Amino acid sequence: LEPLYSFMIRVRVPGGVASAAQWITMDNLAAKYGMPTLKLTTRQAFELHGILKHNLRNTIKEINNSLMDSIAACGDVNRNVMNTVNPNTSAIHDAVQDIALAVSAHLTPKTTAYYKIWVNEEHVAGQAEEAEIEEPIYGKTYLPRKFKITFAIPPYNDTDVYAHDIGLIAIEENGQLKGFNYSIGGGMGMTFGDETTYPRVGNLIGYASAEKTVDICEKLVTIQRDFGNRENRKLSRFKYTIDRVGLDFVKAELNRRLGYELEAPKPFRFTTNGDSFGWIKGVNGKWFNTLYIEGGRVKDTERFRLRAGLRAIAEILGEGDFRLTANQNVVIGNVEESIKPQVEKLLEEYGISEHQQVTTLHQHSIACVALNMCPLANAEGERYLPSLITKIHAILEKYGIGQQPITIRMTGCPNGCGRPYLGEIGFVGRAPGKYNLYLGAAFNGERLNVLYKEALNEEEILGTLDPLIALYASEKSATEHFGDFILRKEIIRQQNPKADFHLS
Ligand code: SF4
Repeated sequence: LEPLYSFMIRVRVPGGVASAAQWITMDNLAAKYGMPTLKLTTRQAFELHGILKHNLRNTIKEINNSLMDSIAACGDVNRNVMNTVNPNTSAIHDAVQDIALAVSAHLTPKTTAYYKIWVNEEHVAGQAEEAEIEEPIYGKTYLPRKFKITFAIPPYNDTDVYAHDIGLIAIEENGQLKGFNYSIGGGMGMTFGDETTYPRVGNLIGYASAEKTVDICEKLVTIQRDFGNRENRKLSRFKYTIDRVGLDFVKAELNRRLGYELEAPKPFRFTTNGDSFGWIKGVNGKWFNTLYIEGGRVKDTERFRLRAGLRAIAEILGEGDFRLTANQNVVIGNVEESIKPQVEKLLEEYGISEHQQVTTLHQHSIACVALNMCPLANAEGERYLPSLITKIHAILEKYGIGQQPITIRMTGCPNGCGRPYLGEIGFVGRAPGKYNLYLGAAFNGERLNVLYKEALNEEEILGTLDPLIALYASEKSATEHFGDFILRKEIIRQQNPKADFHLS
């Protein structure tokens, strides 16, 4: 008798925008086949948890019917392509989103195996009939490891553009998208006890106009395909390739494959990698409401009915949509003026509005799934972080800075799914109840933190943070962020990530 295996299915949402109908599909599937919750991930995907093996095919088929898929949501290929969904960027969001979708489509594997296995050999529109499909970009061996691409629209770095293999930073002129600066070689994962592994922020290598984007992304993917390490998976991400062969080599190889050189990067400024909450009116006259979702977990609880409420909103939303943010929150988007009052009423009715009354620390937090869902986890993540943040917030209140936003990120292991090394305060699980504490990342996502103390329990975490927060409250300048202060006071040493990340 086979054990009753259960699975997680990750559903790609390129650029994070899902229609109301797609939200309803995901909600139905969670109820029908999985745990009755939806997880919104840090890479703008849906995750369904607890899908029993005998329900896998039906679940994926129904996902497919809703014009979403799970192909390339995992594996050694380009993953879900991300884009900021911050409604303040709506002037050029649509133009950037179109390019993000084009990059996503271009880099999606051409294999029909996914459809043969999961959709009962029925081909969907656009799928080739023949059994042997040429993979023009991936070839027979695909990539050495996963590959991640994101877009960001300054001043918002809410997709953590420097944490990706390719980060594209939109450059606009007079409200029009002109092109992108390229960051390459970002990546979060590392392995405890193996100092040849490390998180890394990307390097800016240049600028190109918007019409060149798909081709440049393809060429960068093929450089990683051809030069990435295929002998040691721990050292096979693009960041290690760049550090092994040299950034200058990668730039020269890119120019050679393109047949032209990238221009010098254009000026831009990021202010934050967090979300902006509440209603705003977009340039198209429609309304957008960014909601805080604790740990990205859409579920009903005794306190409020988040899942039922968002489902009820989806049913009246018409042409509106749901936009998954890279901070695990959701934007109810493109809401017509005429139905905004109904949406507001539903938010009240289901207790969701009240749930928005959280601290700025909670609003600026990310937690991965971790225990008890992720087999790699050493410690708790999303189930524990909110209560820890409440205790950290009490310390801020004690020193009179309760409104100060500080990015706090927690993961259950060093793989970095919650991008913990870009938190001004980062926690990475070592063992149940014990975390490494990392400090000093930039509030706008441009600088990594470094290890400050190892394997702390909750009492030790709070005892360590208390005097640092006290010092910060009394000596910070008016606009100084916690991470910058920690660095200025030399509480941590700013690193050459490759050499110093593991040093405290
Ligand atoms: Fe990712 Fe590790 Fe968290 Fe699992 S425990 S979700 S692998 S960071």
